[in-house]
Amino acid sequence: MRDESAEFEIKVADLSNGSRDYTGKIRREWLRGALEETDISVADEDGNVRYSAQKLGSDVLIDFDAQMVLRAPCARCLKDADVPVRARLKALFVPEKSRKLEVDMTEDGTEVSSTDAELYGYDGEVVIIDNLVRDELLLELPMTPLCSDACPGITPPPEEESEAAAIDPRLQPLLRFKKLNS
Ligand SMILES: [Zn+2]
Repeated sequence: MRDESAEFEIKVADLSNGSRDYTGKIRREWLRGALEETDISVADEDGNVRYSAQKLGSDVLIDFDAQMVLRAPCARCLKDADVPVRARLKALFVPEKSRKLEVDMTEDGTEVSSTDAELYGYDGEVVIIDNLVRDELLLELPMTPLCSDACPGITPPPEEESEAAAIDPRLQPLLRFKKLNS
């Protein structure tokens, strides 16, 4: 049965011939909902994702490449900054019931698999990569997002500059002279 809440899912039954490639949009409505509890949002356009799924026995190797423009507060001026991010990851999904065994093997220092992929669990029928796509995109967001490299930060309003500071220092003595005589 299809889980209606999943955005990116791969049915193992569709992989009977080995591997399969998928291309799709990252809907901004979906990602905005997935980021609800953060101060990160999304820019005005959908993102793109390409991923391949490969069946390795009962495991599924996912290789994805996701691109999206996130919107975060600029670290200098706090205005909205649109930051393009790109996340690429290989993830190996193993059936939940065999996962504990695999982890025990790692603790013994044994290789889990020949791939350099990160390890995740799935129910044995449908691989859902929604959280992975969201988390990896967030990880690509810089610690200090900027609205532009040249962002000057929060500048004091011009009226705070004193009259004297705006005058050429070489004329300062004249200014004092002027005040004495007025
Ligand atoms: Zn800024």
